[in-house]
Amino acid sequence: MSTRITPGQIKKTNRQQIYDFIWRNRKVSQQNISYELRLSRPTVAANLTEMEENGLICRNGQLDSDQIGRKAVAYSIVPTYRIAIGVEVMRDAVKLIAVDLYGQKIRRVVLDLAFCHHDDYYQELCNHILQFIASLDVQEKQILGIGIAMQGLVSADATTVVYGMILKCSGAKIDSFTRYLPYPCSFIHDPDGAALSELWASPELTDAVYLSLSQHLGGSMISKRQIMTGKHGHTATFEHIIMRPNGTPCYCGNRGCAETLCSMSALLKGDDPDRFFEQVRSGEKEAVKRWHVYLKNLGRLIAMLHLVQDVDFILGGHLAKYITPEDIRTLYDEIHRSCPFPDTDDFLRLSKMPSHNITIGAALLYIQEFLADIGSANEL
Ligand SMILES: [Zn+2]
Repeated sequence: MSTRITPGQIKKTNRQQIYDFIWRNRKVSQQNISYELRLSRPTVAANLTEMEENGLICRNGQLDSDQIGRKAVAYSIVPTYRIAIGVEVMRDAVKLIAVDLYGQKIRRVVLDLAFCHHDDYYQELCNHILQFIASLDVQEKQILGIGIAMQGLVSADATTVVYGMILKCSGAKIDSFTRYLPYPCSFIHDPDGAALSELWASPELTDAVYLSLSQHLGGSMISKRQIMTGKHGHTATFEHIIMRPNGTPCYCGNRGCAETLCSMSALLKGDDPDRFFEQVRSGEKEAVKRWHVYLKNLGRLIAMLHLVQDVDFILGGHLAKYITPEDIRTLYDEIHRSCPFPDTDDFLRLSKMPSHNITIGAALLYIQEFLADIGSANEL
């Protein structure tokens, strides 16, 4: 078997490297590219011309050049050359977002649409998605795909909800969407969407446990910048670790799962979060007590998980914005009570993506796939 690299492969690699460089540095000159990537000026010039003609990149003003008195043409990528749609399906609402090739929000809407695992619902939702796409004023070919975040475990091929007890949608198929939408569509488990956003916002992140502290508790495990799914697809479903046998019933059918102690619904019991945390911060006794019980349980959960995975723990989800440095201190104290190792207090961190993280993460599925393969994109 020949291992020679073909001219076609070299061309692909060059194009990928040059595009990546422009994407990362936002605004660069031909000279920057040639120098940093050690590619000849003619090679860079030919690639820039081709990518500019195809609409992938554009001229974007000028940059100072090394030569005194001379300015160089600056190039940037065209962020809306391709876009992706993220959808978050919830019990009473649906969130839609469109993002560009930098993962930046182009437009976002929230629909009041109660979930029902029935074709009428899927058809109505797809009509809303089509209207949303029409409002973006883009061509059909610009849409890379639609990532659909579900409150449920998803099959490895992203086509089926294999366990959807919250929405009672186990068995839901992606063709409920694709029969009405002329775009590629994939399901993603909602905390995995949040974890993907976190990876996007944190280029230095390699291994971590992501805890989604929202109405429901969820989790995701990141290893070598990949989301781990596991043999049966339920890696990181921390919410069903039984912490209190004979405790409060969980939606999974067991009792005393972490969901019943560490989710926002377990904490708030129907109260408004802003109002609750106003009470906590103003020292109202009952609220402070409830918050400390919550932190104690969350600390115990993290302590257990930290014995399994000695990595950073990211606290995300809707609760993250209410967590103070003092609360983090309380969590460390609780963790140290049950951990035999003298770890330094350097592994808890708050999410860098507090807003729209699940919808953006769902859309990033397609953005990442596109960016990773610019070199061999056929129709540029
Ligand atoms: Zn459970």
